Amino acid sequence: MTEQRQDPILIVGGGMAGALLALLLRHHGASAVTLVESHPLTLPDEPPLTPSFDARSTALSAGTLSVLDELGLAEAIREHAAAIDTVHVSRRSRLGITRLRASEEGVPALGAVVENRWLGFVLLRALYADAAIQVLAPERLSAIRRLADGYEATLESGRTLTTPLLIAADGAKSRTREWLGVSARDSDTGHDAMIANLSLASDHQGIAYERFLNDGPLALLPLPDRRFGLVWTGPRDQVDAWMEMESGALLKQLQQQCPAEAPRITGIGERQRYPLILTHACAQAVPFGVVVGNAAHTLHPVAGQGFNLTVRDLVQLACTVGGASAPGKLSLLQQYVQRREQDQALISQASRWVPEMFRVQQPLFAHSRQLGLVAMDILPGLRQGFARRAMGL
Ligand SMILES: Cc1cc2nc3c(=O)[nH]c(=O)nc-3n(C[C@H](O)[C@H](O)[C@H](O)COP(=O)(O)OP(=O)(O)OC[C@H]3O[C@@H](n4cnc5c(N)ncnc54)[C@H](O)[C@@H]3O)c2cc1C
Repeated sequence: MTEQRQDPILIVGGGMAGALLALLLRHHGASAVTLVESHPLTLPDEPPLTPSFDARSTALSAGTLSVLDELGLAEAIREHAAAIDTVHVSRRSRLGITRLRASEEGVPALGAVVENRWLGFVLLRALYADAAIQVLAPERLSAIRRLADGYEATLESGRTLTTPLLIAADGAKSRTREWLGVSARDSDTGHDAMIANLSLASDHQGIAYERFLNDGPLALLPLPDRRFGLVWTGPRDQVDAWMEMESGALLKQLQQQCPAEAPRITGIGERQRYPLILTHACAQAVPFGVVVGNAAHTLHPVAGQGFNLTVRDLVQLACTVGGASAPGKLSLLQQYVQRREQDQALISQASRWVPEMFRVQQPLFAHSRQLGLVAMDILPGLRQGFARRAMGL
């Protein structure tokens, strides 16, 4: 008897979530995967340039690195990544600093920071090396039709595909999510994040700085070659001013906001901005369809948790459906959603209220958050609990 081959699982969106999910699904037993991405994903010489693999840098937790390790990719990532040895959390003009250290957690590093374009390059190289993953880029979905056992998807090129499971990984404004009949709630924080690479007068020694300022958090992420990746958040009109400011004046303002212990900043590269609109899909599973990554939850970049949370989702999803004979079965997809509910709720809420809490100016609040940071530094148990969660362990 000949074995019946299953149609490929179809992922729409070849960003950080979609590309990694294709690899994880194969690793967990899926026989074939098709990935549709609207931007060109060319290889092998140049790292890609897409909305996901752009000028940003991403802090990967120790948990994310071990997932990449299982896929045989961590070594290539580390070629152009800086290890995070210490996370230094502080608030400007206040007492209260906490330091999370790899040595205290008994791990070689708390995580690593990698430029998104290099991360994209490593993921795409692995995608193209697997003959059972078909990458269609640039390509888009133009319509879907529900079948008894999956979906028929029509692409803009006119090609049609049938799939037992359609995965929306096409970002916060996902059209695929809409087509699956899933609505989403957006909440506009009124703030933007400005990012840029910074050159330094001395080595950062693997220290990542998270600084809570009155207008919003500022993060300095260690990068190779004596550089920091800057993520500076603030109200939109404030970010307008930073974007337009002459480099010397901006550096002076930035240096004043940084902790005294941080290395002196000597230069700033190209600046880019991202609106901080938090998106939450009202459902993540429907019959033969699932919503992941930014399409499912877009978080505030404080503490760099968005992609790390998504990686934990994707591992669970791949384990649940990768080897299944009917991967789009609703009960299976609901099992996945239930298993991820608690972690998603905790991280989404924390990344909402932490920046809010640090913005409130009332003396009582100021005092308690100061106490919180002091307590974290004094009580190893509290600090370790926080560090283990941030590391995704
Ligand atoms: C400033 C900033 C800093 C951050 N830093 C960190 C960090 O340090 N650590 C961390 O864990 N997270 C961080 N994040 C979060 C992280 O960037 C997101 O979790 C991640 O981008 C989610 O990836 P995604 O693939 O779901 O979505 P996206 O990155 O939005 O990618 C979606 C993809 O779908 C494609 N697409 C869109 N529409 C279509 C269509 N119709 N058809 C086909 N393809 C389509 C797009 O071209 C894109 O490639 C940060 C976010 C920001 C804004």
